[in-house]
Amino acid sequence: MKKNANCKIWLNGRIVPDSKAKVSIWDRGFLYGDGVYETVRVYNGRIFRSEGHWKRLRHSLAGLRIAYQASDAQITRACLDTARANGIKEGLVRITVTRGEGEVGYDPSTCGKPTVVVLALPVRGDLTELWRGGVKIALVKVRRNHPGALNPAIKHTNCLNGILAKIESLKSKAFEGVFLNLDGYLAEGTISNIFVVKGSLVKTPALDCGILDGVTRGATIEVARKLGYTVNETRIRPFELYGADEAFLTSTTMEVMPIVQVDRKKIGTGFPGRVTAHLQEHLKNLIRKELKF
Ligand code: PMP
Repeated sequence: MKKNANCKIWLNGRIVPDSKAKVSIWDRGFLYGDGVYETVRVYNGRIFRSEGHWKRLRHSLAGLRIAYQASDAQITRACLDTARANGIKEGLVRITVTRGEGEVGYDPSTCGKPTVVVLALPVRGDLTELWRGGVKIALVKVRRNHPGALNPAIKHTNCLNGILAKIESLKSKAFEGVFLNLDGYLAEGTISNIFVVKGSLVKTPALDCGILDGVTRGATIEVARKLGYTVNETRIRPFELYGADEAFLTSTTMEVMPIVQVDRKKIGTGFPGRVTAHLQEHLKNLIRKELKF
């Protein structure tokens, strides 16, 4: 998401120019990364699977014990109002909820109301070429946070684990960095979930591998099962990725993105595979069907 000149921001219930959208230096989001967020995709002025995103937002808020009283309808309205204020029908909307202002120190009881910020940005760049040609990923050395320490199932604003992985993957010019968990199994990308395909068997790391329960992951599993593929949510060793016929990433921003190379190793033929293309097409159909465009 790239900052737009003169964009409008939803800040604590008011839409203001970004030059006026200021958050206190006492805000826990700034001081400690003490907050949560969601990024949704707006297609034709509507949000794909908002209910899944708001459910996860509530799960993240509960995980950090942040009290934010807003209904799903209010959150959706804030997001769509922000998109509309920026003239965006095709774009990304991010809602961030921090624990708000408090005293320095970790005790959350000094905090008042949460700070809520909604940003809306147009879709940047055309992914068509990458969808067609696939991307290279890097298996990074830094491991995914252990769920017993900082659970990746909580979409919190403390993103250093992902930032370290991104820095590492950029060194090899990879499109995405993919983590292993502490047990050496595949976990997820910095902003995506991962799938591998062998024959017609589709596999993806189980949620208890310590990952985010991706909305697109869920929709893709649904689509794959409807099309008759067996999908196993399981433990996957890196050698299974290197030896896969096909592999792909899923996320709100990239939908189904084929992986054609992992580090120096080509995956399958080195071109996006048939199963991946099939799922890519049918996820697009599902989005169009649900959002009626
Ligand atoms: N894993 C991580 C770490 C992410 O940040 C994201 C992006 N939200 C995903 C997976 C994909 O989730 P979704 O399909 O809900 O965008």
